[in-house]
Amino acid sequence: MTLLTANSPTAELQALDAAHHMHPFTHGQELGAKGARVITRAEGCWLTDSDGNRILDAMAGLWCVNVGYGRKELAEVAARQMQELPFYNTFFQTTHVPALNLAAKLAELAPGDLNHVFFAGSGSEANDTNLRMVRTYWAEKGQPQRDVIISRWNAYHGSSVGSGSLGGMKGIHMQGGLPIPGVHHIDQPNWWSEGGYSTPEAFGLERARALEAAILEIGPDRVAAFIAEPVQGAGGVIVPPETYWPEVQKIVDKYGILLIADEVICGFGRTGEWFGSQTMGIRPDIMTVAKGLSSGYIPIGGSIVSDEVASVIGNTEFNHGYTYSGHPVACAVALENLRIIEEEGLVEKVRDDTGVYLRERFESLTDHPMVGEAKIVGMMGSIALTPQKETRAPFKAEAGTVGFKVRERCFANNLIMRHVGDRMIISPPLVISREEIDTLIERAWQSLDEGYAAVKAEGLFEPA
Ligand SMILES: *Cc1c(COP(=O)(O)O)cnc(C)c1O
Repeated sequence: MTLLTANSPTAELQALDAAHHMHPFTHGQELGAKGARVITRAEGCWLTDSDGNRILDAMAGLWCVNVGYGRKELAEVAARQMQELPFYNTFFQTTHVPALNLAAKLAELAPGDLNHVFFAGSGSEANDTNLRMVRTYWAEKGQPQRDVIISRWNAYHGSSVGSGSLGGMKGIHMQGGLPIPGVHHIDQPNWWSEGGYSTPEAFGLERARALEAAILEIGPDRVAAFIAEPVQGAGGVIVPPETYWPEVQKIVDKYGILLIADEVICGFGRTGEWFGSQTMGIRPDIMTVAKGLSSGYIPIGGSIVSDEVASVIGNTEFNHGYTYSGHPVACAVALENLRIIEEEGLVEKVRDDTGVYLRERFESLTDHPMVGEAKIVGMMGSIALTPQKETRAPFKAEAGTVGFKVRERCFANNLIMRHVGDRMIISPPLVISREEIDTLIERAWQSLDEGYAAVKAEGLFEPA
């Protein structure tokens, strides 16, 4: 067959895509009828599609392109590593230079005694590792009955069987017989949608104490770990009330259960610190990393593990690993990506400079008649759409109907801003400039205006 190119006509690209390519998290036939948007190249914060449109990517791909697109250094490092040592495994008492360097670098960057790294190819794989690692940890400590992992509804921890079970997405659980046994879900600290009867502070404490209630219900000697994202990402960028995390930390300490912080989005500067755990003031025993670790240039993930957990796991042979655990090319690219983040001071830039500016501009969206709250930490933020700000009422239309309409307007205005239900979310590259932030807010405002007009015209601006 003749391969198509980035210069082939859009219709041809779409037809071939629809004929053979099954897309993740997509209704295949709907997409086939409509035709996928074809992205052909990217630079900085800007994508180009096959029709030549330039699109501002306020999602950094899928929360991952922290250093922006088009970094030649990363391509060069990959090419060099491929020529020197394209692959070797790290099984059976073997190592190589990129893997050992990256593990040491992550140990240096990670807080506290998180000094050991188990590599994976993705965030889902890393959370599968975590599930088996915490159960193995307790078994090695003579407490094999401690096998329950507590997680939260509306959490996202990946979409493999293990990580999809850890997550709390009903849509994932519905298909393929998930969750697996031994995962217990508690309610999320989503004040806007679920806590309006109370103050955010009181609600944060209440949702933290749901963890203690679950521990007591299951039996404190049965619980292995609690897993959570410092700030829920795919669930709609849910920033917990300030009271939430300190109380959770107290509870996991009290019962001696392991804390797994899923840093796949929050890690590597996204929240204005190296890790979301630092922003939230928590002390995890294990952190899951992926996405920003390589800025998405190449697949890699991993678990950063405490001295204590690593030492206990080290007492046995951990019968676990992936062919690509510590892949040399991926490790080399990740190391170079971390060098860029450090040398360009991107974490500090988010904390002290452009992140502060983005917050100010993003929060001004609450002046829009359809926007209830705006929440943002560093460079991950969300706005809640509502037909009635005072009561935080949802729309009468099915959840997500209005959010989808606004997202369609964003696409039309060459802005990538996603919707989760009726929340609109952003997570731009950490290199976004003030000028680009202005463009982001202008296009968001315009899309909200157009969405609002359409929603009103269709009689959908009605509280449930
Ligand atoms: C994306 C994500 C994952 C899964 O990572 P994959 O690389 O897609 O497997 C896990 N946890 C969180 C918080 C994520 O956002």
